Amino acid sequence: MMIPLLDLKAQYLSIKDEIDAAIQEVMASGQYILGENVEALEKEIAEYCGVKYGIGVANGTDALVLTLDAFGIGKGDEVIATPYTFFATAEAISRVGATPVFVDINPYTYNIDVTKLKEKITEKTKAIIPVHIFGQMADMDPIMEIAKLHNLVVIEDACQAIGAEYKGRKAGSIGHAACFSFFPTKNLGCYGDGGMVVTNNPELALRIKLLRTHGSQKKYHHQIIGYNSRLDELQAAFLRVKLRHLDEWNTLRREKAHYYDQLFSKSQIGTPFVAEWADSVFHLYLIRSTYREKIQVALNENGISTAVYYPVPLHLQPVYQILGYHEGDLPCAEEASRETLAIPLYPEISPAQQMKIAEIIKSVEIARD
Ligand SMILES: *Cc1c(COP(=O)(O)O)cnc(C)c1O
Repeated sequence: MMIPLLDLKAQYLSIKDEIDAAIQEVMASGQYILGENVEALEKEIAEYCGVKYGIGVANGTDALVLTLDAFGIGKGDEVIATPYTFFATAEAISRVGATPVFVDINPYTYNIDVTKLKEKITEKTKAIIPVHIFGQMADMDPIMEIAKLHNLVVIEDACQAIGAEYKGRKAGSIGHAACFSFFPTKNLGCYGDGGMVVTNNPELALRIKLLRTHGSQKKYHHQIIGYNSRLDELQAAFLRVKLRHLDEWNTLRREKAHYYDQLFSKSQIGTPFVAEWADSVFHLYLIRSTYREKIQVALNENGISTAVYYPVPLHLQPVYQILGYHEGDLPCAEEASRETLAIPLYPEISPAQQMKIAEIIKSVEIARD
């Protein structure tokens, strides 16, 4: 019995009729990029998040790049983020010419440690990008407060957290703008690349719309230097189908996560910490152990896939050596990088599979004592 980290084929089979019908419809429509499905999806995602505007773009990384660009952030500016995230968060900051400034994470939630945020703010700081890592939102109230005090823009990197909540408010509805990715493995994923920016700011929404189509509103009339970063109709049609299932899938993820919590409750294995104000959508389920390698090998030998998110924190990446960070500078992120391991979690995983996974993990733990 092989158990993948995520079973996208099983998910497709469960909605095959709806997806196949969407393909037929789009193919027959003759409109393949930025058509009525994209427009409808933009409205549906905005409404889902409780914001006014959605702008479909080519991927989550572009969502971040275009948002930073639209806010006029660039050379000489600093943008605060954490080092414990996918590279794209920092890459987007560098791509517009600004400098990422890394703040350590809270060792329990893995999100930005808001108590360490203020000390990193300089006169060059223009924005904060809180990343809602692994499906749990960052502590947004203090972040918004600090941002207001220092006149900073807050862009939520909500790529892993569509549907998550913070004190009853949806991911994407608290910052000045928020970015989503529809990469296939995300909680709401398409069958290719896709992304979206959501915001309540009408000028920002317009600017991002300009940027995604070569800075032009009227064909062949260009107002600014833009990008080619559009969402296509097939992906939008798939996402509209899947959006109707998202809450049900997120609920199943939560249930499966809680079952793992129970299975590990009498062991030394660290399990995800969910803050009392958070409703996580468990994009990933991370266990934590100083015996990570042994656990990974044992699972692998039994045909169970695992992955390390993220083995090298961004401040220690070769490309960011020029920023001058050293090992030990952001200890909580570094420790998490050494000790965490993502194990299979997806709506279709069975209790028997989860039990098998937990037994193997716990047997490694017993063997070492
Ligand atoms: C996936 C992801 C991105 C990038 O999204 P793409 O669609 O792959 O470009 C950015 N930030 C985070 C936190 C992500 O998980």
